[in-house]
Amino acid sequence: MGKKSRLANHLPALVELRDMPGTRVMFWVVNACPYCGEQHLHLAGNLRAADPGDTLGEQAAPCDPEKVYELTLPPRPKKKKGKRGRRTDWSDEDW
Ligand SMILES: [Zn+2]
Repeated sequence: MGKKSRLANHLPALVELRDMPGTRVMFWVVNACPYCGEQHLHLAGNLRAADPGDTLGEQAAPCDPEKVYELTLPPRPKKKKGKRGRRTDWSDEDW
């Protein structure tokens, strides 16, 4: 904290993790940039590397050097575990 966030130049951008066929490289795909509406790709890292989540967060928007967006995972819509919980216990989700 203590950093001032200028919201106009710092919007959330929903991303999707993709890997590139034939490689071990993963990308975050921004399907709709909050600034230009286009698709952008950001390198998420190597499949063998620690955690692609490390590269989430602030990234410079490729379409506008003045702007930054925040790579954000979308909320997962599919929750078929009986109760559509309000709590997000994603620790016991995928195991
Ligand atoms: Zn853009």
